[in-house]
Amino acid sequence: MSIQQKIESLRDELREHNYNYYILDNPTISDYDFDIKLKELQALEEAHPEFYDADSPTLRVGGEVTKNFNTVVHEHRMYSLDNSYSKEDLLDWEKRIKKMVDGQVNYTCELKYDGASISLTYENGSLLRAVTRGDGTQGDEVTANVKTIKSVPLRLKGDFPQKFDIRGEIVLPFEGFIKMNEERLEAGEEPYRNPRNTASGSLKLQDSAEVARRPLECLLYNITGANLGFDTQFESLKKARQMGFKVPEAATLATSIDEVLEFVEYWDVHRHDLPYETDGVVVKVNSLQQQEELGYTAKSPRWAMAYKFKAEQVSTRLNEITYQVGRTGAITPVANLEPVELAGTTVKRASLHNADQIEKLDIREGDEVFVEKGGEIIPKIIAVDLSQRPIDSQPTKYISHCPECQTELVRQEGDAKHYCPNYNGCNPQIIGRIQHFISRKAMDIEGLGGETVALLVNEGLISNYSDLYTLTKEDVLPLERMAEKSAENLINGIEASKQIPFERVLFAIGIRFVGETVAKKLAKHYKSMDAIMNASEEDLVSVDEIGGRIAESVVEFFSSEENKDIIEKLKQNGLQLQISAEKLANQTDKLKGLSIVVSGVFESVSRTELKKMIEDNGGKVSSSISSKTNYLVAGDKMGPSKLEKAKTLGVEMISENDFINMLK
Ligand code: AMP
Ligand code: ZN
Repeated sequence: MSIQQKIESLRDELREHNYNYYILDNPTISDYDFDIKLKELQALEEAHPEFYDADSPTLRVGGEVTKNFNTVVHEHRMYSLDNSYSKEDLLDWEKRIKKMVDGQVNYTCELKYDGASISLTYENGSLLRAVTRGDGTQGDEVTANVKTIKSVPLRLKGDFPQKFDIRGEIVLPFEGFIKMNEERLEAGEEPYRNPRNTASGSLKLQDSAEVARRPLECLLYNITGANLGFDTQFESLKKARQMGFKVPEAATLATSIDEVLEFVEYWDVHRHDLPYETDGVVVKVNSLQQQEELGYTAKSPRWAMAYKFKAEQVSTRLNEITYQVGRTGAITPVANLEPVELAGTTVKRASLHNADQIEKLDIREGDEVFVEKGGEIIPKIIAVDLSQRPIDSQPTKYISHCPECQTELVRQEGDAKHYCPNYNGCNPQIIGRIQHFISRKAMDIEGLGGETVALLVNEGLISNYSDLYTLTKEDVLPLERMAEKSAENLINGIEASKQIPFERVLFAIGIRFVGETVAKKLAKHYKSMDAIMNASEEDLVSVDEIGGRIAESVVEFFSSEENKDIIEKLKQNGLQLQISAEKLANQTDKLKGLSIVVSGVFESVSRTELKKMIEDNGGKVSSSISSKTNYLVAGDKMGPSKLEKAKTLGVEMISENDFINMLK
């Protein structure tokens, strides 16, 4: 088999696995084996850029950065839908239709997926473009981001029309949404409010690699174009499935409005079993011929109607308002409810968000309240049933002191939340911070779990994470359920963590808003904890992608004497507080401000190494040539289109050796 054949066959194989996994939900290979094959393909493609293919499964990992999203006019307008809220509304709609068309009318009933609408254009079986709905006439081109969504086929299967648009909804299933929020909380960031906004926000992220990490899905519902080869909406869905798109199986053909109503009733209940959010049903006249006769109003098709589900609501008693203290000291009021069934689950608690929310709704203990499960995962209280309020009821007095350490709370201007400022003396904050410190993505201390941390703090053995490094086996042995072996593992795990690289230590120490990615950027720029500690706010914001909020938080963290002492103790104990000598030796500012494109095959270094050298020396690697490109490092077998473009734009081309000499 030639290299080209090998590459092609790996691509086909990986495409098929993607299809099995993301469309059919039926993987036939382990994730591990998939990764091995993907890596193999990546390596081959890297060594042989002459076989580049814009549809390769390797491009799913993203990497392209879009600074400005181009506005694109939709070739076929993206309409809204008329809404209905009752059986009567649907019957009225049926009457109107029957007046306008002859003969039997059938309907396709679909779920109304709640996410961000998208229009995908395919040409000759490949994804050409992805555009958001925008105002319906024109939207933003988000192709690079959409390509990373695994259920969007990059190459179609079977027969397909030469060119068409397919519309769908990009959703973020609950499971992935919850996971993303857990990670945000871990980094001390505010969780996202609901899956829908998170999905549409994702499409406009500049870094497609970040989009690739989000578990988005694309569900399709409409094909538009000429010579499509089907006559009904229901067939079109089948066709879309055959081409490799994800079209939920719930879609049903109804031969009467009664059957439509059955569909609505069924899904009003069962939608809660779906892995993603829906906010209703869409009913469409099935025959495309009849659709054409019915046509459009200024804003929506006459042949379709959305039926909106009522948000589920119940009323129950609010027994007590309690207050939780998070790792960052943020106070969250929690409504403890009389347990009640709502949307298939028993609800006992609801978030009250903050003091303003309580005041706005005038929520009081003892009230009968209406609880709703809307887009948010955690149910919320939407109103108080004032008619049921006990006569002796008193307005809620928001706590003024921390429920855990009795320190007076503070609330900064512009901040909705109250905070406990007792950073070093408030137990849940101390424990939370140490738990974050030892977590997998931070110091990854083996043999030490969250509960043991709480135990160590409560027993007075440690009061911050630097104390971990002076613990001895004798200290921990008396703890509950601590055997000789586990004590040893714990101490060994702590010892081993001293080798964790600087960027992860920087993430672990828990500066607010300094998540994994920011920590990496800061580590790369400043190279040592000392340099970061001495950086001013102005200095910090001048670093690429570091904003004012982060800068302020970093400066505040290091302005605390206590924090400085803790960092000093980490240093004394031999943690990595600067990037390793080996890494440092290879890093300079020689290419600062330069945008460089790499293309072709190289002799003395691989493309990956070349790119790393550019980044290590302060340059920016960019994937496509533009007027802003400073250099094109041209290797052997460079693509002709890149060459052409570099020539027209007058971009300076240099060889591999020229480049290496630049660094000397
Ligand atoms: P609205 O925004 O309320 O006018 O509803 C129209 C939107 O519903 C469309 O832009 C679609 O993005 C979305 N939608 C979700 N599911 C479907 C579906 N099965 N058929 C048509 N539109 C849908
Ligand atoms: Zn406190």
